[in-house]
Amino acid sequence: MQIKLSFLHSRVARRIFGLFVVSTLIPVVVLAFFSYGQICSLTEQGAEKHLKQEAKSYGYMLNARLSLLDEALTQVVATTDQSNADIAQHFSTFFPHLGILHNSTDISMLWGKNIAPFFLSDLEKEFLNSGKTLLYPRHHSGEASQIYMLRLIQKAQKPFVIIAYIDPIFLWGKADEFDLQLGFCVFGENNVEAFCSKPELSHILKSASILSKETDKMQTVDALFINSWELYLKPRFFLEKLHIVFSQPEKDVLASHNTFKTIFAGVILLSTLIIFLVSLSIIRRNTKPLEALMEGIHRISNDNFNKPVPVTSQDEYGELARSFNTMSNRVSRQLEVLTALSGIDRLILTRLKIGDIVSIIMTRTNQIISSDIVSMALVDKENESNLTTYTSHTSCSKRRDQIEEGRCPMSEEEAIQLALSRSFKTMNKGQQLPHYLNPLLEYNAQYFLVLPVIINNKLAAILSLGFVDHITLNEEDLSWAKDYTDRIAVALSNASWEEDMYYQANYDVLTNLPNRQLLKDRLEHAIVQANRDNSIVAVLFIDLDRFKSINDSLGHSVGDELLKAISQRITHCIRKDDSVARMGGDEFIIVLSTDNKGSLASSYIATIADKLLKSIAEPLMLEKHEIRVTASIGIVMYPDDGIEIESLIKNADAAMYHAKDKGKGNYQFYSEKINESSLNKLLLESDLIGAVDRGEFELYYQPKVDANTGKMQGAEGLIRWNHPTKGLISPFRFIPIVEGSSLIITIGNWVIRSACFQNKQWQEQGLEPILVAVNVAVKQLLHPGFVDSVKSAISDSGLDPRWLELEITESAAMDDMKGTITVLHELKTLGVSLSIDDYGTGYSSLQYMKDFPVDVLKIDQSFVFNLLKSQKDVAIIKSTILLAHDFGLKVIAEGVETEAHQKHLAEWGCDELQGYLFSRPVPAEEFTLLFKDSLFPNDVAIETKELSTHPA
Ligand code: C2E
Ligand code: CA
Ligand code: CA
Repeated sequence: MQIKLSFLHSRVARRIFGLFVVSTLIPVVVLAFFSYGQICSLTEQGAEKHLKQEAKSYGYMLNARLSLLDEALTQVVATTDQSNADIAQHFSTFFPHLGILHNSTDISMLWGKNIAPFFLSDLEKEFLNSGKTLLYPRHHSGEASQIYMLRLIQKAQKPFVIIAYIDPIFLWGKADEFDLQLGFCVFGENNVEAFCSKPELSHILKSASILSKETDKMQTVDALFINSWELYLKPRFFLEKLHIVFSQPEKDVLASHNTFKTIFAGVILLSTLIIFLVSLSIIRRNTKPLEALMEGIHRISNDNFNKPVPVTSQDEYGELARSFNTMSNRVSRQLEVLTALSGIDRLILTRLKIGDIVSIIMTRTNQIISSDIVSMALVDKENESNLTTYTSHTSCSKRRDQIEEGRCPMSEEEAIQLALSRSFKTMNKGQQLPHYLNPLLEYNAQYFLVLPVIINNKLAAILSLGFVDHITLNEEDLSWAKDYTDRIAVALSNASWEEDMYYQANYDVLTNLPNRQLLKDRLEHAIVQANRDNSIVAVLFIDLDRFKSINDSLGHSVGDELLKAISQRITHCIRKDDSVARMGGDEFIIVLSTDNKGSLASSYIATIADKLLKSIAEPLMLEKHEIRVTASIGIVMYPDDGIEIESLIKNADAAMYHAKDKGKGNYQFYSEKINESSLNKLLLESDLIGAVDRGEFELYYQPKVDANTGKMQGAEGLIRWNHPTKGLISPFRFIPIVEGSSLIITIGNWVIRSACFQNKQWQEQGLEPILVAVNVAVKQLLHPGFVDSVKSAISDSGLDPRWLELEITESAAMDDMKGTITVLHELKTLGVSLSIDDYGTGYSSLQYMKDFPVDVLKIDQSFVFNLLKSQKDVAIIKSTILLAHDFGLKVIAEGVETEAHQKHLAEWGCDELQGYLFSRPVPAEEFTLLFKDSLFPNDVAIETKELSTHPA
């Protein structure tokens, strides 16, 4: 049997074991010692008694024999008259030698050997004389004493003493009569040895203190137990007492005792063993369940709840184990729930997307309430009667792809009911079930637990659990479920808030397109991808042409609708992988990737740009207005046109401006030159400062003629810049630059003043007075000192204000209608004439124009150019002329280049015409010559100086 002592590791086991040892082993050992001592002393006492008894019986026997010898000696005396031979025959067995003591020493032998002479003391003699028998021991060292018996005989005349030598064998006994185990000695006076049963004993026993100490207690000498008895012979035989000393070897005495000892030790050992085994078994029985419990506790402290404590008995330990298992199950469950809940709490703190939350719910729900199928239905933000459901069987691992996604409707009533109830709902297959439980039915669920997730008193989601066999829920489960759904609510509301924030930070609210911020991320991403794939990224910068005027004239809501519509058109033109973003205002950026290289890449991008231009230019119906808008696109390619995101966007912007310069409604690939031109733009800007003072500007004049007679009616002053190094520069190039700064005020003033002075000069030269028009930029018009500056130009030049006309472009007028109208009224009071320039480009209707105190309407060149091609444009021109006349306005058409133009416009009732057909804008002196002619045949106009529209 193998005894496991490992249990002694347990303190309790050690304690029980210790108590066992103390309470059982110690008494046993004490008892053993006590009984052993008791037995030893009993044995010794027995031996003592026995020895004393032996010595005593031997003494009695000795006494009896001496009496017998005494009697025999009496008989010898009585028969002294018989022959010696006869007597000897009778008594030689008692007395082998016998003689008569004459006088003092002379001994005559009756029989036997001679006896050595005797010397008797007076006391002895006296004793003899009393008629008693005297015993006389005679000692020879190293031998047993010879014992003689003496008696006085009075019978004859002369008394004599008979002396007999006692046969020692008769007296002491024969050796074979003695007990072999025992040995004895008889000591006489002065401890003189009288007889020893074993000669070797004499010496040992003589040394025994028992002889001297006169004690009757037993002694031990030389492994011998010794005891003695004394025989008093003095009164009878005049012999000092005889000391009879008996001995027995210890081993003989203790032989039985040793056997006992062995047996006793065995018994003790056996009982100890039994005690040990019994205590062991008791300890095992008690500590085993205790250990199991301890192990269980350790397991729990190590978060291992999987293994229950084995229930091995029906006693209190079994009860304890059962209670422990129940408790551990509850703790484990609570822990699981708390872990799941804290997981959700963490989600609340981390910035998770709703999708992540859904997948975590699919994983965690089972830890809180164990079910077969979990389904989460999220109420759609845009459409609250729509639910998106996510369903997963709890036995599947919850990878995203194992979560089934679906959609289902939900009535408003149902949602309100769930939101109001705020608590769970259980259902079974037999009932009429809501749509959102359908995914659970597909998994064969029979019972359902529905938990509404409510945010701000509104239903945000529904957590539904499906059970195939049965549904068992206790109070605790349900309270956890409530906690759980509350947390889901917080997590979802956080996530949706995060999404909103993300959306706000990254998307344009109007068009739902990514904003500048997100576009930069996407562009960065596309660049990284392009670096990896060695592909090309194109950035298309789109700007709508004249969007501002649409916005201003038709209102912001129309502008917004237009932007939305355009953004959709743009989105339709590109692939899903490409990105489009609204950069703000009417600017959009597209990021395209292509695997094509070189010219193939360019042509691919060009086709897309074409497609975009066409799509954007399609007419649009917005709030009953048919709107047509074009766009200018600038294109850059990564990595050829820039490496950095910022420089790519900047270069695309520059390319877009280049497209605008090229007449709008087109696309331009970026080239170094464009950058150069924008650099030039910068240089021009600095060159413009002080150009007025340096006299670098000149006003050219272009005649306006009567549409029917061809007679000059007036002129338009158009500014030119004689750049000291770059030559003549077109206003198309520098007016947009100065329009953004206060330079426009200085330059604009100079223009008005020059025109007034020139016109006055022509009048002073005697020429027929004409109306000279100048262009006024909107910033100039709205400048506080504008009316005054016009007034002083008129008064300083002395020109009658009715010969001055101010042209304001339609789109500029619409920019700030109220402000413009006020200023126009003030100007009107000065007596100047007012005209609307570029009419038809600003999308304003004549209804608006009614409110402007203007005299003239100038139809934009673009309509005249399309006159022969577009029936629509013809219709616009015709109706504009009719309507303008109705409002009492004069109509001028500009950009008249051909006789056909002239013919049609005249036919439709246009009042005046302006264009190359009659003359290009010319310097004042040249115009004076034209003026003098006054009539404009078809081939008159030749501009003398070539305009350099592009810098060298
Ligand atoms: P705008 O006011 O529409 O001027 C008419 C422009 O059309 C002039 O260009 C003129 O040369 C050009 N033009 C006239 N007839 C024809 C034609 O038959 N065919 C073609 N293709 N073009 C024709 P210009 O002189 O280069 O002026 C360009 C623009 O610069 C003007 O457009 C006007 O908006 C602006 N501008 C010119 N001078 C001034 C000025 O003194 N002040 C301001 N604020 N703007 C000015
Ligand atoms: Ca003009
Ligand atoms: Ca014009």
